[in-house]
Amino acid sequence: MTTIPVNPGPVLLADLTELVATLRGDGYSVIAPTVRGDAVVLAEIDTAAQLPYGFGTEVEPGGYRVTPVDDRLAFTHVASPQSWKAYLHPSRERLWSADRDAEGFTITPDESVEPPRAFVGVRPCDLRAIGVLDRVLEGGERYRRRRDNVFIVAVNCTEPGSTCFCVSAGGGPRAESGFDLALTELPDGRLVAETGTPAGAELLRRLRTQAPAADTVDQADRLVESAATRMGRALPEGNLRDVLAATRESAHWDDVASRCLTCGNCTMACPTCFCTTVTDSTDLTGDHAERWQQWDSCFDIDFARIHGDEVRTSAPARYRQWISHKLGTWHDQFGESGCVGCGRCVAWCPVGIDITAEAAKLADEYTQEH
Ligand code: SF4
Ligand code: SF4
Repeated sequence: MTTIPVNPGPVLLADLTELVATLRGDGYSVIAPTVRGDAVVLAEIDTAAQLPYGFGTEVEPGGYRVTPVDDRLAFTHVASPQSWKAYLHPSRERLWSADRDAEGFTITPDESVEPPRAFVGVRPCDLRAIGVLDRVLEGGERYRRRRDNVFIVAVNCTEPGSTCFCVSAGGGPRAESGFDLALTELPDGRLVAETGTPAGAELLRRLRTQAPAADTVDQADRLVESAATRMGRALPEGNLRDVLAATRESAHWDDVASRCLTCGNCTMACPTCFCTTVTDSTDLTGDHAERWQQWDSCFDIDFARIHGDEVRTSAPARYRQWISHKLGTWHDQFGESGCVGCGRCVAWCPVGIDITAEAAKLADEYTQEH
């Protein structure tokens, strides 16, 4: 038996058409960025032609726009409105149903089987976010079943958006681990590919590739290194866990709350927010009941309802909970930050609240007092 090396070194991939077709031929449902309406969204594609060729994105706090660009590149957009979380940890799913019978109730767990999926175009920030979800949710059988069936094609970032800050969030525009295949798209459309797993190496072996010239690999490396220096914004330096713990009574929380609508958009868009709630329902006869799980948000008044009372009734308390967990106590729970710097919460906040700016104000206050 021939052993395929995990990483035989970078190669030039002939094209994405063959990659998508081969993944589909292997039985994967290929999920990738594609233009729908006025956004680059993640959806199933049949061919590589459905990738967002000729479209870029412009983002700002509270703003997102798809713009035509004069190139034939597939991956010039920033993080899409939804994240891969939608496929690994769906926004709504039935957990079980129950039916009355002669003996009482029969409970039937929902064990619907989903197709294996290939995620094509996973940005390095989102790769880290999948790693965060793995640590939190891997004990769950549903999550594990979906996750085990995913093949990941990462795409290194060469054009960060104005809301991106992965570097200051402890990551970077290069995919370091957690992928089967990683691509860097060069300005002329050529693709430098590297493998991260035996499955990635095996796939690459079946695609048309050629050895790249040394300066081509250097060019790809330089593009990614340059992206790291062109982040649109940054979290403040220092220990944010300490900052947030020490500024619990800051007047700044009222300032944020005067702008925050507590709509929860930030938590829905965030690729690492994982909270859920369950709802039970029965039909009118009482013979059939179902339990559904759906995403929940710490901005929802009912989220912190305990024994008939809410413990976080005010908007300042709810925003403080979100950012303090995300950037602070997440470290205590999971040994890392809950923010990967994708910028989605900044772009998709309807009033443009920017987590980096709010953290910076609190960090300034902390520095003045310590
Ligand atoms: S920070 Fe923005 S997105 Fe988040 S709850 Fe407040 S208004 Fe909504
Ligand atoms: S907190 Fe904001 S920037 Fe950080 S991972 Fe979540 S959506 Fe992305």
